[in-house]
Amino acid sequence: MPVSVIIPAAGFGERMGATIGKQFLLLAGKPVLVHTLERFQSCTMIDEIIVSTQRSSFSLIGEITAQYALTKVKTPVEGGERRQDSIAKALGTVDERSDIVVVHDAVRPFVHVKEIMQSIETAAYYGASIVAVRAKDTMKQAATDGRVEKTLNRSSLWSVQTPQTFKKQLLIEAYTHAEKFNITATDDSFLVEQLGVSPIIVEGSYENIKITTPDDLLLAELLVKRFIP
Ligand code: C5P
Repeated sequence: MPVSVIIPAAGFGERMGATIGKQFLLLAGKPVLVHTLERFQSCTMIDEIIVSTQRSSFSLIGEITAQYALTKVKTPVEGGERRQDSIAKALGTVDERSDIVVVHDAVRPFVHVKEIMQSIETAAYYGASIVAVRAKDTMKQAATDGRVEKTLNRSSLWSVQTPQTFKKQLLIEAYTHAEKFNITATDDSFLVEQLGVSPIIVEGSYENIKITTPDDLLLAELLVKRFIP
């Protein structure tokens, strides 16, 4: 069962306030993206890794793949304006033999190989899977003026992460549908849900943070010291 992974890494990192994308910031002396790529390089179920990034970062990708012996990483693909566009472009280059496509944010270096494998196995069986953790905080729905409208039932709420994994044909269909009907989403699961498919949740870990703001990078420096892939 050949498996491809798409790593969207074309963000500019506006919320980080840095001049380079947060995926290239150093974490324990190595770019965040390298930590992430190493998780997939070491996962025996992954056959190819496609990184979607800005054209100006192509040479950097070439350098890091050589330096860190990331042999599964293919020639990068140019990203798009939205995360969704970056993934759509990468999806067009997936090896035709692949049955399964994993999507994982470049800025989530603390994914466990076990989670990647569980998400692949679940998607292979059910068609779609998403890694998520149970909501820790009580969640409220509020109006734009900040007035609370309702308190949501926490026991049924999950914070969604990546990897999100799909049968390839299903993901292609979801992206084709999204383009046709002009649907924008912040995760791939939503696009698949629009086809009436319900992805299955794989319970992940709270360590699998998305490095978005300077605070996250501080937390990541602490996590990296004790992280066991
Ligand atoms: O912006 P957000 O935090 O949702 O980004 C999640 C991931 O998507 C990051 O790895 C980022 O580099 C990537 N991304 C992308 N193309 C964009 C925007 C974000 O590949 N246009």
